[in-house]
Amino acid sequence: MRTKELAGGVIALSLLVLGWTALLPASSVVAAPPAFFPGAPTAVQVSRQVSLAEAAQAGAAKLGAKGGFTGDDVSLELEGKEFKGPITVSLKVEFTLPKGKTPEELKQLNEVVPFEREQTEAELNRLQNKTSKGDPVKFKLEWKVADPNDPPTPDYQHVTVVDPLKDLAEPDKDFRSETEGLGTPNVGGNEISAKFTASDMGMPGTMAHEMLHLMGVDDHYLDVYRYKGRDYPLPATGMAPTPLKEYLAAHKPPLPLPPAGRVGSKTMKGYSRCDIMGANSSRKCRKISPKDLDWFDSQAGTLVKAEPGETLLNKKDSDQNMGIGFETIVFAAPGSTTVANGISAYCLDHDRGIPFEGLFDVGPKASEMPGYEGVGKLLAYNFSNAQASLDDSPPAMQAAIWNQTDGTPPTAIGGPEEVRALMAAAGVSENTAGTDLPAIANPNAGSPNTGAVSASGEVLPNSLVAEIEEPAIVRLDAAQLYTKRFQAGKKAFGDLVVAANGNVDHLDLTVQRKVGKRWKATKKLPTRKFEAGTTTVQVPLGRLAVGKYRLVVSVGGPVGEPEGRTVGFSAGK
Ligand SMILES: [Zn+2]
Repeated sequence: MRTKELAGGVIALSLLVLGWTALLPASSVVAAPPAFFPGAPTAVQVSRQVSLAEAAQAGAAKLGAKGGFTGDDVSLELEGKEFKGPITVSLKVEFTLPKGKTPEELKQLNEVVPFEREQTEAELNRLQNKTSKGDPVKFKLEWKVADPNDPPTPDYQHVTVVDPLKDLAEPDKDFRSETEGLGTPNVGGNEISAKFTASDMGMPGTMAHEMLHLMGVDDHYLDVYRYKGRDYPLPATGMAPTPLKEYLAAHKPPLPLPPAGRVGSKTMKGYSRCDIMGANSSRKCRKISPKDLDWFDSQAGTLVKAEPGETLLNKKDSDQNMGIGFETIVFAAPGSTTVANGISAYCLDHDRGIPFEGLFDVGPKASEMPGYEGVGKLLAYNFSNAQASLDDSPPAMQAAIWNQTDGTPPTAIGGPEEVRALMAAAGVSENTAGTDLPAIANPNAGSPNTGAVSASGEVLPNSLVAEIEEPAIVRLDAAQLYTKRFQAGKKAFGDLVVAANGNVDHLDLTVQRKVGKRWKATKKLPTRKFEAGTTTVQVPLGRLAVGKYRLVVSVGGPVGEPEGRTVGFSAGK
C-alpha cells in the first residue's frame, strides 16, 4: 500500500517536472536581484528616492542609447540633486562572535538578531523624525549574522558580540558597547567595527544610539572624572581601568585614583538632556537631535529605480522606443553624478532602426497605455522570472514583445513554443491577428534633454530642483574648555573637549588675550595630530596675566577648508 502510493507520487511528480520543462525556457530564474550602480549599496546610505520621470523632470537624468535592442542597451546618467521629500537612512550591519564560541552560542545569536533588528528599527522610527525643513527621516536596518570563521562581508559594519568578563583584553564589568569611530554615509570601503554586549542588545535605546554611531553620528556626552566637586573631562568614554589610571596620573594637576574620585557621564553643552546621543540613551523622553536630522539631510543623495514596465521614448522617430525589462537602482551622492551603464530594455518597434546614439525621454508605464498592457505584463514577468541578470535577457522575450507590439509571429531560436510559453506564463494571449500597435508618440523629441511624457501623451513640466553641494569634509561639532577661570601668574593648563569628525587629521590652537578692543595672540601651540571623534586634550595655556582670554580652536584635514571656533576664558588673582 505504502509502496504503491509512493510510486504513484513519483509518477505524478515526474510528469509535473516534465510539464514545467516543456513550458518554461531553459533560462528560467526566480526573482533576480536588481542591478545596482555605482555598485552594491554602501554600509550607510542616505538617500531620497525619486522616480525616473521625476529625475528627468528635474534635469537630473540623461538616458542614452548604447547601440542595441535586447538586453543592457541604455545608459542612465544621474546627478545627485536637492530633491524634497522623505529621507531614508539605510544601515547594513553584520554581527558575529569572537572566535572559539560554541555552535550553540552562534545559534542563539542567529535567533536574537532578527528580533533585536526589528526592535531597534522600531525604536529609531518611534518618533516622527523630521528635518528643520519638514522632510521625514526614516531609518532602515539590515542585520545579518556571520560565522566567526568567515571573512567579513563587504559593505557592512561589523559588530562582535562580546562577554566583557571573558572576551576583552582586560575583563571589565563596566564595559559599555562601543564602536571604533563613526560610519560615513555613501562612501564604500569605510567600514566600522564595534563591540556590543549581549545585555545592551536587549535595550532598544542603547542599540539605537549605537546604530546612529554606525551611521555617522557622534556622542553628545562625555565622561568626566568627578573629584572634590569638580568635573575633569576624560579623553574617551568608557575608558578601561588601566588607561584611566594612566591618564589621571599624567593629568596636570595629577588627579588621585578612584575611589578618591569617580567616573560619570554628562551631556555636552548645546544638547538636550533627552538627546539619545547624550549621557542617558534610555530616558523616556529620548529623541534624535534636530541637528543630527539636519546632518542626515546634508548627506542625502538621489536614488532612482528604473522599473520593469517603464518605457523609454526615442527622440528620433525612425529609431526604436524601448521597454525596461529589469530593475536597475542608481544612486548619486550629493554633488556627484553616477553613470549607470546600464538599463536593460527591449525594443517596442520591430520595424524601426536600432538606437546607436542619441537620447531617450522617459515614457509612461506600458501598463498605463491602451494596447500596451500585454507588454507591461511581459516586462514585469521578465524581471521576476525570466531574466537572470542585467545583461542576460532571453531573446524569446523580445519575440514575445514584438508579437504584442507589431504582430510578428512568435519565432525564436528555441522555436515558437519558447515564445508562447513566455506569453502564457506572463498571462498574455498571443496576437494571432497580427495587430500592429501605433508607436508611442514623443512630444518631447525636439528638446535636447531627457524629459518625461505622461500616459495621456503630454510633456510633464520641468521642475526646479537645486544643485546640491558636496557635504563638508571637516566638521567641528563642539569645543569646550574645562574650567574657564584660571589663576593669574601661574602656568595654566586647560582641559579642552573637542568633537570633530569627517576627514580631520590635525588641530591648531592659539591663545589670544584681549588688549583694549582687540585680540592679541599670546601663544601659538604646535599643530597636533587629531583623530576624528570626541576627545579631551590638555592645553598648556602659558603663564596668564589678569584679564580676558580666548582659545582659537581649528581642525583641518588633508583636503578642504579647516573649521574653527573660539572658546573664552579668564585669569584672575
Ligand atoms: Zn556612544
